[in-house]
Amino acid sequence: MRSLLDLQFDNTFARLPVGFHSPVSPTPLAGMHLVSASPGAAALLDLPPESLRDDEVLNGLAGVQTLPGTEPVAMCYAGHQFGHYVPQLGDGRAMILGEVVTGQGARWELQLKGAGLTPYSRDGDGRAVLRSTVREYLCSEAVHALGIPTTRALCMFGSCEEVYRERIESGALLVRMAPSHVRFGSFEVFYYRDQHAQLRQLADYVIDHDYPQLREQAQPYLALLGEVVRRTARLMAQWQLVGFAHGVMNTDNMSILGLTLDYGPFGFMDAYDPGFICNHSDYHGRYAFDQQPSVGLWNLSCLAQAMLPLLDADNGEAAAEQARAALTEYQPVLVEAYAQGMRSKLGLREEHNDDQLLSGRLLDLMASNRVDYTNLFRELADLRLDDPTSDRALRDRFLDRAGFDAWVADYRARLRTEHSADPVRAAAMRQVNPRYVLRNYLAQQAIVQAERGDYAEIERLLTLLSRPFDDQPGMQAYAAEPPDWGRQLEVSCSS
Ligand code: AMP
Ligand code: MG
Repeated sequence: MRSLLDLQFDNTFARLPVGFHSPVSPTPLAGMHLVSASPGAAALLDLPPESLRDDEVLNGLAGVQTLPGTEPVAMCYAGHQFGHYVPQLGDGRAMILGEVVTGQGARWELQLKGAGLTPYSRDGDGRAVLRSTVREYLCSEAVHALGIPTTRALCMFGSCEEVYRERIESGALLVRMAPSHVRFGSFEVFYYRDQHAQLRQLADYVIDHDYPQLREQAQPYLALLGEVVRRTARLMAQWQLVGFAHGVMNTDNMSILGLTLDYGPFGFMDAYDPGFICNHSDYHGRYAFDQQPSVGLWNLSCLAQAMLPLLDADNGEAAAEQARAALTEYQPVLVEAYAQGMRSKLGLREEHNDDQLLSGRLLDLMASNRVDYTNLFRELADLRLDDPTSDRALRDRFLDRAGFDAWVADYRARLRTEHSADPVRAAAMRQVNPRYVLRNYLAQQAIVQAERGDYAEIERLLTLLSRPFDDQPGMQAYAAEPPDWGRQLEVSCSS
């Protein structure tokens, strides 16, 4: 059986000079064992998921022996954390193992998370706990299945090693993958150290490696910034549309590829609440759900600032002008992607001037009536134009019945203007409004069982969430709104 031992590696990031990274080696976790492997992610490497059960593979990932072709390094980066610049962060518990080149020529950087100390560990222990690893593992794969760009999770391991957080937990290891794990903070570290040659080398690396088409542009670095601006704008629109809050949008957690990166205290909203704060340690709500679009722009301005020396080294004012122009694309791209996405969620094919008013009114009603975000949109597909009984269940979700009645009358009228056909609209809506998302309480149930050594729930959620838009027989309970204990789960950065 083909396994990780047979893969072709070409470690482009590790070949960058000292200063970009430091050599590391994983520190084995006591009693490490495979918890789960994602068939979808394994397929990207042409691997059968069972191949990850191999003892030699386990020893290679654990650091007992070196996996052929790998050259583990920890990446150096900096970043703005909660608005403050931190001059050196870096992979404190992540290690890039190497870069796999598949038969189709795709490149996947494999990264271990929780593999032990690195030169960037600062006061940390280099470990990840089972709880947070289960969350990142499941959510990476679930977010991908929702059609949102993200790092992927190949597999995860548990162990009997004790790790100290607010309580004693067990250590775990995630193997994640992305074409590149370069972050906004990777640029910032060289900018703030006045290392402009390295800054240029990093930009060249990113362009050659991930955006080769930009080489043809008159100003490749400016084109790179523009591309990241647009990708980030679209990513923010996608998060907002699906009710996802990242929780720690520091610039070191912002991917240069526009991927969802570094899952920590993230949360999918249950009841719609624009001010939703999923990170228990985010006292001021800097990363509250409705702040994400503006934080995305703030983070991009940090990136733009770090790229200034690349735009026009001799004329600071000209460079700043170019950066500003690139950033002005952010808002229109985000607004358009969000508006288009919201029309799809509502089953609207045509574009009308007051569509935003219509969706905004629904969101306001949902907020004041604390209506479940995922389920409301999913069930809206059941509405039939000429059958007033078809929205009874929906109506019951609102305390403000009159408000809902007024809205739904306008919604029906709007659908009629484009001669919307019930079955066609319903099918289209079910392709964009998920039935299942990784609600906090669902992840929590899987964690509690995993902490007892039972991984069946992880497997169940992984399979369920790989097809979030399909009603799956016998799985209705997984679309349920949280039980009382699951409403106020506290999730913090401590992972
Ligand atoms: P995060 O907010 O999880 O993305 O982490 C921010 C920074 O802290 C990164 O540089 C991480 O590598 C580092 N870090 C987080 N947890 C640990 C840990 N347990 N040990 C060492 N470094 C860590
Ligand atoms: Mg991070």
